[in-house]
Amino acid sequence: MLRSRSSAGGAIGCAVAYVLAGAGYRDIQVVEQGELAGATSGQAAGLVGQVRATRERCLLAMSSVATYSRIERETGYPADWRQTGSVRIATRAERVAEFEALAATARSAGLEVEFLSPARLAELCPMLDTASAMAALWCPTDGYLQPNSLVTAYARAARDRGVTFATHTTVTGLSLARGAVTGIRTDRRAVATDMVINAAGPWAGAVARLAGQDLPVVPVRHEYFVTGAVAGWNPGLPALRIPDLRLYVRAEGPGILCGGWEPDGLSLDPRQVAIGQELAVSPDWDVLSGFAADFASLAPAVTQAEVRTAFRGFPAFSPDRRFIVGPVPGLRGFVMAGACNAHGVSGSAGLAQHVLESLQPDPSPYVQSLSPRRFLPRTWDWDSARDQAKQVYQSYYSLAPRRSARDR
Ligand SMILES: Cc1cc2nc3c(=O)[nH]c(=O)nc-3n(C[C@H](O)[C@H](O)[C@H](O)COP(=O)(O)OP(=O)(O)OC[C@H]3O[C@@H](n4cnc5c(N)ncnc54)[C@H](O)[C@@H]3O)c2cc1C
Repeated sequence: MLRSRSSAGGAIGCAVAYVLAGAGYRDIQVVEQGELAGATSGQAAGLVGQVRATRERCLLAMSSVATYSRIERETGYPADWRQTGSVRIATRAERVAEFEALAATARSAGLEVEFLSPARLAELCPMLDTASAMAALWCPTDGYLQPNSLVTAYARAARDRGVTFATHTTVTGLSLARGAVTGIRTDRRAVATDMVINAAGPWAGAVARLAGQDLPVVPVRHEYFVTGAVAGWNPGLPALRIPDLRLYVRAEGPGILCGGWEPDGLSLDPRQVAIGQELAVSPDWDVLSGFAADFASLAPAVTQAEVRTAFRGFPAFSPDRRFIVGPVPGLRGFVMAGACNAHGVSGSAGLAQHVLESLQPDPSPYVQSLSPRRFLPRTWDWDSARDQAKQVYQSYYSLAPRRSARDR
């Protein structure tokens, strides 16, 4: 019988617990220092996009969407998934070529996408002034969900499969013997276990340090704002991505949710992130009003809207744009499930499957490519790793030729 401890209770930890329990793993406990979904996952915008630059990433997103479409039917717990479709809008000629490449990759993965005529774009997005749109790529099966609902659904469904939860419990140490994990220590007690899954989000580097491992999990600030009601907006509208403006947008009820990727991001030094440290950040209204000003070129009403609130946090990034998933070589039972590069809610279902696959004897080459092995032993330096991870954030919507398409 495998006893495992999953740290911790965000989208990834709960998805992993749900998936491993479904695969027959027993005696799983999720150990969470706060409340479930109380950290990064609860701040996410909940956008779920399947159009990606590589086939593997499309497939991961597609399998996640398949889960969100059936999770309520299968478990009885809703993720508040809305399959509104999404529209990706190009306002520059260079971007159109990128969309064509994205569409080809999507189709190679079996994902339905289509370029919209101006008339169809106006019909699907009546709340936008689409005069500047040079191309619009439509993915009818995309959508968005409520991250808190998704985490709650995973957790309840996992509980039904026998998983237990220890909230308000911080993992403070790991017991290791003869190259293997033998237990965890928390601020409440010590527990024997032969597997620890490190799904600690922006704290995953600190948890890895408890195991004596240096892994470049870099927290980078991200934020968006939500407005009050705006005429013409409703929850059934498609989600929008406007890479030339570095923005994503969707309706939140009758209001607008608008977030973006800053050209000059704010990262934390992973070496300074301590176990149990609060990673609070205030909204940066200069940045957020910049998002609003940019989006006003397509939706002038946004600048008049009352901003209701701002969500923010420190999603974890890796220096090479790839997730860090799988067993840590040389330390039996210590498994990474992190560095989600801001896909940790949308991709949680697929990522949990990757974690499961990584524990099997013969994972696919793609899953192997996510292994923490590539960073161990440490030959890289912390400052460069932090800088590269920040670049991953900053170039999220940059045109492909300026960066590797691998794993975007
Ligand atoms: C503003 C914003 C918008 C975003 N929008 C999207 C989006 O639209 N779509 C998308 O896919 N992603 C989005 N993201 C990214 C997404 O939120 C993350 O990728 C995802 O939440 C990562 O999940 P996680 O479970 O790895 O991390 P977390 O949700 O941070 O969970 C990690 C958990 O580990 C716990 N923990 C840490 N250390 C310990 C310890 N020592 N002991 C016990 N527990 C511990 C923490 O308390 C936390 O609950 C967004 C992020 C932000 C900030």
